[in-house]
Amino acid sequence: MTMLLLLATLAGRPGFAERAIDDASRMLPCVVYDVRADTEDLKIVLFYDGAGQRACARGALAVTAPGSRVVFLCPRFQRQTPELRAAVIVHEVLHSKGLKEDRHHSISITEEVFRRCGR
Ligand SMILES: [Zn+2]
Repeated sequence: MTMLLLLATLAGRPGFAERAIDDASRMLPCVVYDVRADTEDLKIVLFYDGAGQRACARGALAVTAPGSRVVFLCPRFQRQTPELRAAVIVHEVLHSKGLKEDRHHSISITEEVFRRCGR
């Protein structure tokens, strides 16, 4: 791994999210949704601190756009239980694979991931 690639990888995994990302990696193979994702998909998603993102100020736990490889984790994300943080990571990885939602759908995606694949 080149130094540049190493730095990019580290920048895409904030310390506060390391454990949630590892937990999500174990949950992903269990997830059956409109869009399939697996552990390999998680490796190419970049996670950034979302403080300052408008959606975070509106109460989101994390933000991305369908098809995007960049996920912003909001300050509220850090205050959730480890299980919920992992489910949120899975939720966002599903979006990065193209899963769309409207606002009302958002909570049900996370709840379904949590119910089927949480501990
Ligand atoms: Zn969502």
